[in-house]
Amino acid sequence: MHLHTVYSDSTYTPEELMREAKCAGLSAVAIVDHDTVEGISPVEAAAKKIDIEVIPGIELTAQHQGKEVHLLGYLIDYQKKGLREKLDSLWRIRVERVHKIAGKLKALGLNLEAEEVFALAKNATVGRLHIARIMVNKGMVSSTSEAFRKYIGEDCPAYVLGFRLSVLEATQLIQDLGGIAVLAHPYSLNNNYLIPEFVDYGIEGLEAYYPEHTPAMTNLYLDLAQKFNLVVTGGSDCHGQTKPGAKIGSVKIPYALVEKLKERKEK
Ligand code: AMP
Ligand code: ZN
Ligand code: FE
Ligand code: FE
Repeated sequence: MHLHTVYSDSTYTPEELMREAKCAGLSAVAIVDHDTVEGISPVEAAAKKIDIEVIPGIELTAQHQGKEVHLLGYLIDYQKKGLREKLDSLWRIRVERVHKIAGKLKALGLNLEAEEVFALAKNATVGRLHIARIMVNKGMVSSTSEAFRKYIGEDCPAYVLGFRLSVLEATQLIQDLGGIAVLAHPYSLNNNYLIPEFVDYGIEGLEAYYPEHTPAMTNLYLDLAQKFNLVVTGGSDCHGQTKPGAKIGSVKIPYALVEKLKERKEK
């Protein structure tokens, strides 16, 4: 329920992703690329041939009190009129941000041009994982995770926040598309007290099952979901070759949770 494609920052094409999904034994998948829906139709076409159900989704980046917050939008009407224009404006902000991060890296003596990052990302929603891959290619770091740890991760010297949507706006955008807004990888908030606030904004679910969540964290999010009447989701957050630790199928959830998500949408 949490997969990326080359339309954002995974290395997998829709065809490769669906081949891997079949191998992993998945009956349903959700495509949630960062700030784009361009990958959904191609994945649907690839999935049809091998009988895998595709849940259309998106992972929107919002910001709250100086921190990045990722919101998953499930079962969205991704063909809704006007959506493309809205997402284009988010993409332009990402392009700006890459220029800013490249500027900071240059100031640190690391010679990386924004144009190199755009050439790698092509038409994808460009982000830090593309920057990290260029840094690996140029020998500046030995892995993408080192790039995040030393330079472009939160609280690192070349980090730039700079996203446009608030959590409320991102939630409302998902609701406008008829979708269910779910807080992605809640551990990354580092502050569970924000969850009730986000529920007030309209989020309706928590991604309790996630590779970085310990069993204790998962149990806590399951309890919180019950307390606030939220749906529960989970997934690997697979990004293809760039994040070897998050293989597709490494986090599986029962299909009953997908049914709960659909029931929630019908309410
Ligand atoms: P951005 O959208 O540019 O803020 O980049 C966010 C994406 O960067 C996440 O969805 C991950 O794909 C990736 N990412 C974030 N932190 C790390 C990390 N520590 N190691 C590897 N990838 C990361
Ligand atoms: Zn990503
Ligand atoms: Fe995320
Ligand atoms: Fe993700």
